[in-house]
Amino acid sequence: MILTPIALVREIREIVGEGPISLHEPSFNGNEKSYLIDCIRSSYVSSSGLYLDKLENEISKYTGSKFVILVCNGTSALHLGLKVLGVKENQEVIVPAITFVATANSVKYTGATPHFVDVEDESLGIDPINLRNWLSKITFRNKENKLINKTTGKRISAIIPVSIFGHPCKIRDILKVAEEFNLPVLEDSSESLGSFISNDHTGTFGRLGVLSFNGNKIITAGGGGAILTNNEKLASTARHLSTTAKLPHKWDFIHDEVGYNYRMPNLNAALALAQFQNLEKFISQKRNLFFRYNSALDKYNNISLLKEPNGCRSNYWLQAIKLDDNTSDFRDEFLDEAFKDKIYLRPVWNILCNLKPYKDAPKSSLTNALKIEKSIINLPSSSFL
Ligand SMILES: *Cc1c(COP(=O)(O)O)cnc(C)c1O
Repeated sequence: MILTPIALVREIREIVGEGPISLHEPSFNGNEKSYLIDCIRSSYVSSSGLYLDKLENEISKYTGSKFVILVCNGTSALHLGLKVLGVKENQEVIVPAITFVATANSVKYTGATPHFVDVEDESLGIDPINLRNWLSKITFRNKENKLINKTTGKRISAIIPVSIFGHPCKIRDILKVAEEFNLPVLEDSSESLGSFISNDHTGTFGRLGVLSFNGNKIITAGGGGAILTNNEKLASTARHLSTTAKLPHKWDFIHDEVGYNYRMPNLNAALALAQFQNLEKFISQKRNLFFRYNSALDKYNNISLLKEPNGCRSNYWLQAIKLDDNTSDFRDEFLDEAFKDKIYLRPVWNILCNLKPYKDAPKSSLTNALKIEKSIINLPSSSFL
């Protein structure tokens, strides 16, 4: 059978019921209110407090990351991550062409520029085979043994793989390429809290990983983020920079470098801790939602539903369908038809190198990313559906 825009709306309605349906909404049915009230009563609503300590501990236990540094959002976590890896102005950082704009923006904050590479179909993450070929073709090692882009003359100094919609990217293969070219990896696992490759949590493979607790993510702090690392030195530098680089002292204000006010407030940690306690419940609801979409949409030959890659457990943060080559020309008709019925679907992001700030950024050929850009539609994905 062929999925038409009208049929998609009908199938979604069967699953989500009546009324306006947004792409993703948070659920607050745990300890959110009581923790928030307790936090306010304690007067520790700002940059230190027990909820921060507890949340760091819980995330550390759950992800297996030795160190967790909570910050005010995922973007600042990425920025700090790049800082502690030593990324500097006039360098380039490898970023997939398909990701949320924050991944690229964080590179810009350091003065470096993103260098966009192609993605693969299974996870929508960086294609490791393509990456190896591309780096082999366009780089050389200079006298200091640094990796240099032949065309721009700039040093390539890190890679940021992203796990899109919660599906783990091919991080093990990407790490092999990173090792061959001696590049540190910062994992953008903003969308993949609760997603594992065998028993290892996304964000714990590279030197550093990042989580986001924005309002649209699988759990929310209102706004928040975290840096994950097993490296004590990187952890303490990240923590120091996130707290205005202030040296401990009874009363004196001594800051030994330009730090950032990136600390997560205790108030946000109180909300996030309550959310975290329901994470596994949200994941099982989302996995269940996937199976419901899958049994409704399986009969259509011109689309496929995005699935967790082999050997992985995905959190299924956002459900997504992929339109085949003939159908993707009509993508906007699917979106318009759904919007008419107040079902607020979303296409995947525009490839970042077409956005104004990134028009001149270096890039590989993006054959697959260009196809994916036109063919992916996210379906309503709230855990309570
Ligand atoms: C949400 C998100 C971020 C940024 O997180 P914020 O907390 O919104 O700053 C970064 N990268 C990806 C892939 C994201 O989805």
